[in-house]
Formats: sequence, structure tokens, C-alpha cells
Amino acid sequence: MNSLLLTGGRVIDPANHFDFPADLLIIDGKISAVGQNLSAPKEIERFDARGKVICPGLIDLHVHLREPGQVAKENLATGTAAAARGGFTSVVCMPNTSPAIDNAGTVALIHERAAHEGVVNVFVAGAITKNIAGEELAPIGSLKKAGVVAITDDGHCVQNNELMRRACEYAKMFSLPVMDHCQDYSLVTNGVMHEGYWSTALGLRGWPSAGEEMIVARNILLAELTGTKIHCQHLSAAGSVTLLREAKNRGVPVSGEACPHHFTLTDAAISGSEKFWGNDGKVLAKSQNGELPEWPAYDTNFKMNPPLRSARDREAILEGLADGTIEILCSDHAPHCDFEKEVEFDYAPFGITGLETELSLSLMQLVHTHKILLSNLIAKFTVNPARLLNLNKGTLSIGADADVTVFDPDCEWPFRAEESVSKSKNNPFFGWKLKGKATGTIVAGKIVWSEQNELVVV
Ligand SMILES: [Zn+2]
Repeated sequence: MNSLLLTGGRVIDPANHFDFPADLLIIDGKISAVGQNLSAPKEIERFDARGKVICPGLIDLHVHLREPGQVAKENLATGTAAAARGGFTSVVCMPNTSPAIDNAGTVALIHERAAHEGVVNVFVAGAITKNIAGEELAPIGSLKKAGVVAITDDGHCVQNNELMRRACEYAKMFSLPVMDHCQDYSLVTNGVMHEGYWSTALGLRGWPSAGEEMIVARNILLAELTGTKIHCQHLSAAGSVTLLREAKNRGVPVSGEACPHHFTLTDAAISGSEKFWGNDGKVLAKSQNGELPEWPAYDTNFKMNPPLRSARDREAILEGLADGTIEILCSDHAPHCDFEKEVEFDYAPFGITGLETELSLSLMQLVHTHKILLSNLIAKFTVNPARLLNLNKGTLSIGADADVTVFDPDCEWPFRAEESVSKSKNNPFFGWKLKGKATGTIVAGKIVWSEQNELVVV
């Protein structure tokens, strides 16, 4: 039961500095042995991993599963199915639901529903403030007791610095990291895209980089003041990377994450595919072998929070990922219904789905371009998020939970809307030829998705 022998792969386990051709034996849902030519009793199922990478199950610490209250967009079954298909064995769901996950009862509800409906592990982030309103602290102690792995008001940002300071002090008492969606409301006001050349050309309200950098700087100061670990979510601006790099060099307990759309696309994409490929997409166009995906100007699938930024910002995020300033990769998977996105750019909600494309896009932008090593990329999806959140995951050590991802880093495949299993289809990468793909997702020794049988097992 829940036993499996994976044979003939390249096993990469950054937590143990392991990168060799090997087999992996799983017994009763735990890692039992890693080594060459492993033998196992006949009744144990085999998984052929020749030509593939075998690594610890990938973790996405920034996902919107939309439960409770927004199940027209996504639910625990469809969201975790998309995670499994993308190679993810664990996700952390954000608390900006309806009602918000700001109390122990709602945390318990998610845990219970995830145990029944989910195909991968679901960890919960609790809210910093009640109803994510930024006015009054949520009961952080009882959230911790209910099992949250971090607190964040993601989707929103606590504007009151004194309140944020108190949140940090409480979080520290309970050994909880604070994650923050960095957005200064007074600077951003009602901006809908990056403030720069393209916002002027397109006549859309701008959202300056300083609207993010201001809060990153605030968080650095509060991390220094309180000693609490503050993790800055979905960084998009060059200035944020500079601030984070300098603070980390001084030993301030801060960290950051980046999402593939911010280091693949730029704000030129909102002016349509022709302008994007002609201006900022030239490097990417080369890898698309002449067949370039097309989209119109003002396509709301390019509207996200924080917004796509300039080519210079995109470069800075890539540099930050390469030099270790940004240690974590994630999707900010944010499903929205068609009818919500099919409106004028100003009125569409922010966000795109990302669980099924983040591994491929990260491989394309970071590994296939020789910016980082494959083991480093895997670390940003496994051991690094596990360490931040104190999860007992992210490694293939003997005795660890057998959460394992098998992927082919070189497989080229077209991403098609009809093959996406997320409940929502708000993704700008449909029609793109991607390189690198998960082929098997194993949770606690059980194959929950594999390319061979297109199986998603609950
Ligand atoms: Zn956010």
C-alpha cells in the first residue's frame, strides 16, 4: 500500500545536495531508499522514470483555492487537481476568501474539506487582520493553534504600520512567518497597469513601482525592529530586489518570492502580441520556433496584481533569482470566471491561473537560459519554501513523507485551454509552446497524477 519503485531517473534532492542517476523506493508512503539498482518485492508497483528528473514534491506557497465562498472560480478539488498536473504535491492557500480565513473555525473547515476533496497536501495561511480589512488583528494565537503555517492579508496589504508591527510581534511569539502583499494604497490608488511608457500609450491608469517598493522598505524596517521573519510576496519591481538584496546582506530576516509571469512577460504585452514580440519579447520569440502566440491589446489575462512591469524590472527579477536574493518561486494562482474577465480592462479583476505552467515557465526562463542550475530551481520550489514555513516537506531524506515529483525538463508541449483542469481559464499562456513538464505527481507514495494515464485520484 502506497509503495512504489521509481526506476532509472536522475534524482535531485537539493536539501541533501544529492544529484545522481538513481532509483527511489517508497514503502508505506515514506522514502525508504535512494540508490542505484534498488530491488523491491514483486508486488510493488514500478514507475519508469528513465530520462526524467525525480525530485522532492514541489511546493507552491502562494495559491488561491477560492474556498470558502468563491467556488464558481475554483474549489479544493479542481485547484488541487491543477496543482497535481503541474507537478505540485503541496500548496498553501491564501485567506482572502469569502468569508476570509481569519478564525480557527474556517481553518478547520478548509482542512476537513481538503482531506476529502484535495488530491495534494493543502496548507492554510491565516489572515493578519479580521476580514482582511487592515483594521484589527485576527486572533493570531488561535489561528496558529488551528494549524496555519503563516499569516498574510494577501490581495490586500496592512497600511497601518503600527498594526503591522503588532502583527509581527504576535507572529514571532507563535513562531509564524508573516507574508506580505506589498502595495501602498496611497501611491497605487486605482492604477490598473505598470506606470510607464505603455500605460501612457494605452491610456490606462498607472501603478508605479514605488507602490510596491515602499512596502518592501517598510517590511525591512519592521523585520529589523521586531526580529520577525517577513516574506515579501510576488515581487515585480527592480527596486524591490535592490532593497531586499541590501537588507539580506545585512542579515535582516526578510525573504522574497517571484512568479513566472513577472519574469516572462512585460507591460508591453498589454499593447497586444505584435508590440510585445517586437519590443520586449525578442529573446522569448527565439525559443518559440517561429510560431508566436497572438493576443489583442487590452487582453485582461495580462492584468495582475502586482502588474507586469518593464523589461528592466523583468531583468532585475531574473537577476534576483539567479543571485539568491529571491529564494522562492510560486504561481499566485488566481482563478477568475470568464464573465468577470470579459469586461473592459479597468473593470476586470487582477490575477491569472498558474499552477499548470509555473514549472515550465521557470525552467524556460531560468534553467534553459543557463541563469541557474536545475538543482537551484528545484530548491526554490522545495526546500526553500519548506524552511520558510517550517513544513516537514521538501526533501527525499530516508523516512520523509514520500511526496515526489517526476518531470521531463526538455519535453516541448503546447499549453491548451481544453487540457487545463483548473475551473477557470484566465491564463495568458494558452497557445504557447512550453518546454519542461511534470510527468508524475506522487503524494505520500500514491500516484495522484501521471502523464501516462491522465489520472487524477482522490
Ligand atoms: Zn497578492
